[in-house]
Order: sequence, then structure tokens, then C-alpha cells
Amino acid sequence: MESTLKRTWAEIDLDALGHNYRALRAQMGPRARFLGVVKADSYGHGAVHISRELEALGAEYLAISSVDEAQELRRGGVGLPILQLGLTPADQTGAVIKSGVTQAVWSERAAEDFSREAVAAGGRMRAHIKLDTGMSRLGFQCDEAHFDRSLEEICRVCALPGLEVEGVFTHFAVSDEDQESSRAYTQLQHQRFEAMLSRLAERGVRFSICHCANSGATVSYPQFAHDMFRPGIITYGIGDQAEALGLRPVMSLKTVIGAVKDFAPDTTISYGRTFRTGRPSRVGVLPIGYADGLHRVLSNRWRVWTEAGTAPILGRICMDMCMIDLTDLPGVGEGDVVEVYGPHNSVNEAARLAGTISYELTCAVSKRVPRIYMKNGVEVARELLLRA
Ligand SMILES: *Cc1c(COP(=O)(O)O)cnc(C)c1O
Repeated sequence: MESTLKRTWAEIDLDALGHNYRALRAQMGPRARFLGVVKADSYGHGAVHISRELEALGAEYLAISSVDEAQELRRGGVGLPILQLGLTPADQTGAVIKSGVTQAVWSERAAEDFSREAVAAGGRMRAHIKLDTGMSRLGFQCDEAHFDRSLEEICRVCALPGLEVEGVFTHFAVSDEDQESSRAYTQLQHQRFEAMLSRLAERGVRFSICHCANSGATVSYPQFAHDMFRPGIITYGIGDQAEALGLRPVMSLKTVIGAVKDFAPDTTISYGRTFRTGRPSRVGVLPIGYADGLHRVLSNRWRVWTEAGTAPILGRICMDMCMIDLTDLPGVGEGDVVEVYGPHNSVNEAARLAGTISYELTCAVSKRVPRIYMKNGVEVARELLLRA
């Protein structure tokens, strides 16, 4: 659906995406593949456009977390192999095969179900075996207590009809943290990964694609990558590691000052009266609230960026609006565009103030916020996810 609204929007800078892709690719060396993680609508950036761009840039694989997301990409003309990282009910096996999706396989039970359904559908489902080396989420457990049992199970899984096992992977829990204990844990996870790969190889079970490097490992442990990197958040230029690498934020969440008002000292602002003016104040009203994804926990904490300086958010963020302090920015007024997050106003910093991670803030940018795709400084597409 097209949107002509200019209320609040997310500018998606495809040039920044290209810059980040090339910078990461340069780090990865010539042999490894690049899997772009585009789950959750590309962390809120818009999965179809981001995926098409990554495909054009030369990425070899994509990953999502529900079969519906994969089908959206196929409808959008994306032809790359797509790995479904998450849980899929076995009765969707036919859809997985039809969409040419590669499914993570996390247990012998799940594998048997997929196998049975694939055979019934008369097809073969491409699969990557998921190893749990310490994330304690999906996967065959590879700690000492479960190692031998998992080894036997994986050998049996790889011989099941209806499955074409192409790859194997694991996921790190603390690869983005540099404390000694986190580094040791990542090493341990990687040792377990390699141990399972080599015991499987002794049994004649080999994989054409082994992968484990999320963003944290892409930056801090590139030597662990094996055949493919699997970065998500840094591709979007977000996170402390992205800043350190000179990557550029792809999303700028923007809005327009809709009204400006003057208030006497001792006036309270918004629900709950949590902010009280201490001086004669000039206050701007913005058409963005928590229903657009600006978390209410940022009330009285976050600020927006303007050409003339930053303007703090005053009082509670409402569902559809919030107020900002323009007293010290006399040149800023109605109709001026402000940046809520983006290159001038780091979403990482907003996440810290909100007590969460930047992933959650970009994923929260809601469906009523149009995404406007920019290339070479001009708009190339816009998208609104509201029902037509
Ligand atoms: C989300 C996810 C990634 C990407 O993680 P980032 O921290 O965004 O790089 C990689 N692998 C798996 C299995 C994931 O679920």
C-alpha cells in the first residue's frame, strides 16, 4: 500500500545499507558467504526492500523466523535461498518446500515429522541442523551430558527420507560482550560446535555450509565463521560494534513539529503531570507516540534532534503524540522535521535509556509508520503496512 502521509515516517537509507554490506564483506574475506538476517521485517526496516537490496549487493542467503515471512519475500520477487531459523509446525512442510525455504531442524522428533510430511507431499525439504552449544534455545544439545546422544540422533536425521541436509549451525549467547567470562563462553560454544562437526565427519556426515557468526562474532571472532557469516543488527548500522566499525544507521525515524505553544512556569505537561515547567516554556507537539513505536518508557528521558540542537521530550509519551522543549531553540518551529532516531540521534543511546536493546526499538516502529526508501539522496519507494 502506498502512503502519501507525511506525519511520522522511517527513512530507510539503502546507500547506508550498501556501505555497511561492503564494509562487512571486506572484513569477511573472499570465501565466506554472507547471510543477511531479515527476520521481523528486517528489524523493522522493511524486509522486501532490504532483501532485494542485499540480493543485488551480492548476499548469498537470507534468514527469517516464520514461514509467512519467507513467503512475503517470495511474493516480493526475492530469489535467494532463505533459511527459516525458527520453529515451524510440521504441517507447514509443504509450504516450506514450495517456497524453496531451508528449514532449521532442532531435534530428531521435529526431523521425523518434517520427513514424514515431505514424503507425503512428494518433495524434499532442504534443512540445516541446529546445534545448541550453549544458547539453551533450539537445537541438539552439545554439552558433555548430551553430546553422544545428539551425535547418534543427528546421524539418523541425516539419513531420513524427504530431507536434504545442506548445513549445520549454532548461535552464540554472548559474542557481543567482551568481558573475560563472555569471551570464555563464546570459545566454549565454538569448541562444542567444532567437536560435533568433527565427530560427525568421522561418521561420514558432512555439510556444505557450516555457520555460527552472528553480528557479535562477525566483528569479534571472524576466525570462527566457517563457510558463512550471519550478521543481523550490524548490517543495519546499529549497536556499539557498528559505531566502532564506522557503519551507518540505515533507519532514520522522523516526524514533523505539528504545533508550538507557550506555557507559563509551573504548567504541567501530558498525562500524569510528570513534567512541570520551571520557566516560561516553548513547547512543540509531535505526531509520534508509543503506538508508532516510541516506547513510553522514554517519557522525560529521550530527546529529538533538530537542525538547531536537541529538544528533550517533556512528560509522558502518549499513544499518538508527545511534547518537546523548544525554549532554547527559538529558530525551530511548526513544520520543521525532527529526527527521533538516526545518524544524529543514536537509537543505541535511546535503548540504553529505555533499559533495552536497540533491536527492540527498531522492531517496534509500527505498521502505521510508512517506510520511505532512499537511494542516492532520492526517494525510490514508499510503503505503508496498514490494510488497504
Ligand atoms: C537473530 C539471529 C541472528 C542475527 O543476530 P544479530 O545479533 O542481529 O546479528 C543470527 N542467527 C540467529 C540464529 C538468529 O536468531
